[in-house]
Amino acid sequence: MPDSQVIDGKALAETVRNELRAKVETFTAFGRSAPHLAVVLASDDPASAVYVRMKGKAADAVGLRSTQHTLSPDTSPEDLRAVVAALNDDPDVDGILVQLPLPDQHDEEAIIGMIDPSKDVDGLTPINAGRLARGDESGLMPCTPLGCIRLIEASGTEIRGARATVIGRSRLVGRPVADLLLNRHATVTTCHSRTRDLAAVCREADILVAAVGRAKFVQGDWVKPGATVIDVGINRNAEGKLEGDVDFDAARVRAGAITPVPKGVGPMTIAYLLSNTVTAAQRRRAQ
Ligand code: NAP
Repeated sequence: MPDSQVIDGKALAETVRNELRAKVETFTAFGRSAPHLAVVLASDDPASAVYVRMKGKAADAVGLRSTQHTLSPDTSPEDLRAVVAALNDDPDVDGILVQLPLPDQHDEEAIIGMIDPSKDVDGLTPINAGRLARGDESGLMPCTPLGCIRLIEASGTEIRGARATVIGRSRLVGRPVADLLLNRHATVTTCHSRTRDLAAVCREADILVAAVGRAKFVQGDWVKPGATVIDVGINRNAEGKLEGDVDFDAARVRAGAITPVPKGVGPMTIAYLLSNTVTAAQRRRAQ
């Protein structure tokens, strides 16, 4: 069997960013200010600091305005809530992202839950997650799942009527990916750590999405011949190299299309964060 199509997430993210640049220009061309993304960093986790910097740079590169609100890792819950409340109230802010995880003194769910849903560019507030779970895509939706759907569509895979297996049921990835696939009329099975005979469930899938957090967890012979495989996992191996949740070399000889790690889902996540910021600005300013 020939090798599969490797879906180029880096190139597709560039396409998304070009679409966004054109949209941002429609704001500034009419004298309005560019959409504004506010990112809150309240931990001293080095990976979080890198992600926040990347997001700020990516926003600037498409012409958005971005501000970073860096708080001390021992900031009190009251002070963090006050920062989020101020961003909610600020009419100049279109999108709010609170970088997770938060230090232990904070109640993550409570902080996420207080973000104004119209500015919730991560799509994680109960209101936006609830809308999506009910089949309503009018709210802001999580970035990584949106990126996964765009990658599947770009591969030419028909979602309608396909059997889809999603490994993982997190609020950030697994559940919303399953919701989006179901909304597009796939027949969806969501798997997790208690799923029996996971390999057999995967082998039925025309579309297989892995969001587990374990390097090379999905074996090549779990992939149905011709299937489209989306690898969300980001795992660092002993040499510090990034690896996905799928054994890429073994899977690509069976898959019809497959995303690599890196340069697969990762760049799409950031592109859809920017896209959500533009969407939030369009909707808020139309009101
Ligand atoms: P998570 O919250 O830890 O969820 C992992 C899921 O995998 C859980 O639902 C868990 O099941 C399931 N799981 C764990 N072990 C399993 C097993 N042996 N068999 C079947 N299912 C198993 O992680 P996440 O936030 O969804 O992220 C998943 C991966 O994606 C991570 O590597 C993360 O770094 C990566 N990620 C990448 C991007 C990107 O932009 N590329 C964005 C977000 C996340 P239970 O629910 O039963 O525990």
